[in-house]
Amino acid sequence: MKETTLNIQMVDLQSQYAKLQEEIDTAVLEVIRSAAFINGPRVRDFQAHLEQYLDVKHVIPCANGTDALQIAMMSIGLEPGDEVIVPAFTYVATAEVIALLHLRPVMVDVDPDTFNITAEIIEPAITPRTRAIVPVNLFGQSCDMEPIMEVARRHKLWVIEDNAQAIGADYTFADGRRQKTGAIGHIGCTSFYPSKNLGAYGDGGAIYTNDDELAQQLRMIANHGQTRRYYHGLVGVNSRLDSIQAAILDIKLRYLDDYAAARRAAADYYDQAFAGIEQLQTPVRHERSTHVFHQYTLIVKDGRRDELQAFLNSKDIPSMIYYPVPLYEQEAYKESMANGMDKLPVTDHLCRSVISLPMHTELDKDMLEYISKGVKAFFE
Ligand SMILES: *Cc1c(COP(=O)(O)O)cnc(C)c1O
Repeated sequence: MKETTLNIQMVDLQSQYAKLQEEIDTAVLEVIRSAAFINGPRVRDFQAHLEQYLDVKHVIPCANGTDALQIAMMSIGLEPGDEVIVPAFTYVATAEVIALLHLRPVMVDVDPDTFNITAEIIEPAITPRTRAIVPVNLFGQSCDMEPIMEVARRHKLWVIEDNAQAIGADYTFADGRRQKTGAIGHIGCTSFYPSKNLGAYGDGGAIYTNDDELAQQLRMIANHGQTRRYYHGLVGVNSRLDSIQAAILDIKLRYLDDYAAARRAAADYYDQAFAGIEQLQTPVRHERSTHVFHQYTLIVKDGRRDELQAFLNSKDIPSMIYYPVPLYEQEAYKESMANGMDKLPVTDHLCRSVISLPMHTELDKDMLEYISKGVKAFFE
């Protein structure tokens, strides 16, 4: 027996597509008829529109978010054994590309409220081998970038933002200036994985920078290290965004701010519904960043997170644990702790107590009410 006929999903991409079907079908068919599948005009259009939207000088489209991070890492001239500081509470890709390039990911803890790394957390992990920092704008809001950029300047470190989860969010500097996340560090990386806030209908990614020289380097590396056709100045990779994905993304980019507003409205609803439940901590919104709610993630304070998840399951309410295991406890990354520590207490606690509720652009009142009632019922 089903508990509800609402058919609630973590992410509902079908209903989102239904609203844009004509526009998207037409664009995809146009690409197929033109046969300009690779590096076609739609890729250049999307690139230009994304540069405009992010207010950034250069966007380099690529095949996925992991490639974006890898190409960024390859572009800054690091040597094997160089250290790169990353949060231990993130998706594996952030650390993976570092290890893959024979660099050393150095994992640090995160802020217990925003789940992001901060300047105060980064600074003690800096050693003479440290070359770069990868702030991850987790779950849809910016790290506090101004102090992080200040630490980076003082120690001459590169800053590569992992903006896979926060495209469209704005960060406000002390002087009131606003910038899109990912455009603040030296290089920003994003993913167009279907369930991301700006999702393709397959894989995709992009790298962005305001630095002309870096942009040239990044473009070369993404294209086999090619300087001109069949001349290779560098060892590169093959990483392209295809024209069909670019055509779809170019349409969806026009709705990105509306999508963020829909996510925020759902988050507001949840926040209000859970305000009186003392066993829960609702997402903390940093005053310097807007939140685009890639995830709506609660902390269950009384140790009953897994019980809550089972209860929601029994009511046909999906939920996910992002992330269940600290990166430094993963078999592949056991050697990656900062300063010989063996546990990062906040990351450890978060992995045992977070739960993410359904969050997408198509959540309606009935669904939000049903989900919230389900969560409340568990704590009554
Ligand atoms: C999704 C994601 C990536 C990787 O993106 P792909 O397109 O799946 O390769 C990297 N970092 C974070 C934080 C992500 O959420």
